[in-house]
Amino acid sequence: MPRFRDLTGDRYTRLVVIEFADFSRHGKARWHCECECGASVIVLGASMTSGRQVSCGCYRREVAAETSRTRTLVPPEPRLITYDGRTQSLAAWSRETGVSPQLLSHRLAHWSLERALTTRARPYRRGADPDDIHEATATTQRGVTHGQGP
Ligand SMILES: [Zn+2]
Repeated sequence: MPRFRDLTGDRYTRLVVIEFADFSRHGKARWHCECECGASVIVLGASMTSGRQVSCGCYRREVAAETSRTRTLVPPEPRLITYDGRTQSLAAWSRETGVSPQLLSHRLAHWSLERALTTRARPYRRGADPDDIHEATATTQRGVTHGQGP
């Protein structure tokens, strides 16, 4: 039986060594590990001690997902909007108003800057276009009638 270091209880980034598993075809010790994500994996001890393997594979997947998300979602030029002396990205205004970036973008295209950035998200939606419904209701309540544009 080849000599090898007992790694039981050691932690390698996301992997915690639970117990010795077996020897690989090449006589290298393999270990039963538990990953932070909850997965159980058998890993070559040398892969962990050398830092080549730091998770069950979830770390690599997360990095890959993060990279592709960054590539697809970050626009080449973030849209900056200045209102009331403050310049912020559309995303920041979206967080502030609670309105989704898509809806905020829609509002900015159709409403005044002030109205778009000071009208908070309504807690619920009615109908296909809540903004139009809101307008119609407000107009009716005031007893004012006027032709609503398309
Ligand atoms: Zn994992």
